[in-house]
Amino acid sequence: MPRIILLGPPGAGKGTQAAQLAEAYGIPKISTGDLLRAAVQAQTPLGLEAKSYMDRGDLVPDAVVIGLIEEQLQSNAASSGWILDGFPRNVPQAENLSVLLDKLDQSCDRAILLDVPDDEIVQRMLLRGRADDREDVIRNRLVVYRQQTEPLIAYYSESTGLKTVNGNQTPDTVFAELKSAVE
Ligand code: AMP
Repeated sequence: MPRIILLGPPGAGKGTQAAQLAEAYGIPKISTGDLLRAAVQAQTPLGLEAKSYMDRGDLVPDAVVIGLIEEQLQSNAASSGWILDGFPRNVPQAENLSVLLDKLDQSCDRAILLDVPDDEIVQRMLLRGRADDREDVIRNRLVVYRQQTEPLIAYYSESTGLKTVNGNQTPDTVFAELKSAVE
């Protein structure tokens, strides 16, 4: 079963597509955004720490998300495959992931970039209406993406190998192209 990293700007549809891929391959979708939102909801200490960063559209400190990922990857459910959605978000997170996978005697099969133009992203996120989908916060999340996450495109092109799928198509077409990028 595959081990997949799904990269892409906020609002590209990673969450929806990752959920469908997870179902199709019978693997867990591991989303740091979902895990953080659940922690905020439950008002755990971790959630309380993360909330102010999320409200501004900034990245939550690396140690927090790396801890979450470590816990998830060590679980039985993730022993034979997984899809990461929203992690890693910067080069230090990617380097930590690589060390963690070595420790678990695993490796990532494929990194896939789900790409969507900026204008389209803002439109989609405004429609979604999540707490951090206000226009100023969206703009900041895009800046953070360009500055911190985009360098991962080069990072994974040189290591795991990266395939790009155009996310600006119907959801069914995107899903079909993602599946062929996995296989
Ligand atoms: P997402 O659902 O992936 O769009 O994430 C929502 C928010 O959670 C982001 O804007 C960040 O504040 C935080 N977040 C999610 N994943 C990460 C990550 N890997 N590193 C740092 N912050 C993250």
